[in-house]
Amino acid sequence: MRENDWTKVLGWPGYRVYQHEIDEKTKTLKLWVRRKRGNRKLVCSGCGRKFSEACDIYQREVRDLPWSEFRATVVVELYRVRCPDCGIKTEKVAQLPSKAPFSKRFEEAVGLACESAAARRVARQFGLAASTVRAIDLRYLQRWAAGRRKPALRQMGVDEIYLGKKQKFLTVVSNLQTGEPLWFGRERKQETLDEFFQNELSTFQRGALQAACVDMHEPYRLSLQRWAPQCRLIYDKFHVMQHANEAVSEVRRAEFFRKGGAARELIKGKHWLLLTRWVHLNTNKKRQLNKLFALNRRVMKAYLLKESLDRLWSYTYEAAMLRYLQSWIDQLRWQRLKPMEKLGRMLLNHLEGLLNYCRIKVPLGVVEAINGNIKALLRRGRGYRDLDYLLLKAQRLAATKTDFVAFQKAA
Ligand SMILES: [Zn+2]
Repeated sequence: MRENDWTKVLGWPGYRVYQHEIDEKTKTLKLWVRRKRGNRKLVCSGCGRKFSEACDIYQREVRDLPWSEFRATVVVELYRVRCPDCGIKTEKVAQLPSKAPFSKRFEEAVGLACESAAARRVARQFGLAASTVRAIDLRYLQRWAAGRRKPALRQMGVDEIYLGKKQKFLTVVSNLQTGEPLWFGRERKQETLDEFFQNELSTFQRGALQAACVDMHEPYRLSLQRWAPQCRLIYDKFHVMQHANEAVSEVRRAEFFRKGGAARELIKGKHWLLLTRWVHLNTNKKRQLNKLFALNRRVMKAYLLKESLDRLWSYTYEAAMLRYLQSWIDQLRWQRLKPMEKLGRMLLNHLEGLLNYCRIKVPLGVVEAINGNIKALLRRGRGYRDLDYLLLKAQRLAATKTDFVAFQKAA
């Protein structure tokens, strides 16, 4: 093979191979490359200014894509320029995007692998440390984010994710129309969302907001009212049903303590059954739940109320929706189900936002899907300490739609 052929197979535009070394024992290939004769423009890596003369020459070794079974490293001849603004600076080379010892396309291969596998698995595949893989993945995502257009925000979603006892809550702001998360904030206070409006949006962008899908959570409402008073709030099914599930759990817990002995045994462990919709249960699970209902009418009533609340979002006319809600609340009378009554009051207090569902059309299930994706990432990555990394990861996931797991789990 002539050097010309090595150059062709390597395929680094503007560079040619002038020396190579093959080690069959260790299965490694080393290539020395330098600029082709016509490639004379040097670019300052600090400011982008162009130069035709170099002040210094040196070599850098980076890992590149493998050649068949051979691990390949490329030794690149590089120049330094004397820049009036930056001083002595290294030239900018497309194939070398960072100071790390990897070529751009090698980092892209690692980043791509990270889209469908955990960092630890990718690390094994490429023979790298897991921390190195995560650093490569972060740079890969940052480059992707820097090079893309950001769509306008008209309809936003605000959601919270529970991270655990230590880190508590994460506030997630998303774009409902593109289905991607935009911003993460610590905790779920009014100040949290204030920070988003203040730092991430211009006055014009805040004024352009039409609707926000949020939880019936007072701090978020206050923040939205302050920064985007024209933006209409929508209390979507996903968030309301979370409250309904909580109410059912509360009833179950109260009954668990009230009853003793055998009945207590029966209620125990039925938590997840009660949170699952009837249509999603198999025959055996339905039978288990029926047995529980036969013994405890209150738990049954609470479950049925939750099930029927779900139908509220099948109405497209606000008068019909309102009528249905009224009849649902009427059913609560004489039931002595305190958590359910509390939920009923909450719904009445947030009536406007519930009825807005009929007035403004927003894509459904988006907040829920984003929530599910982030949780899936957290499970797979075993805790992201770096929130910026987690956000980029979730954005990439939404853009490539590789792993939409949450739709099936809809309440
Ligand atoms: Zn410069």
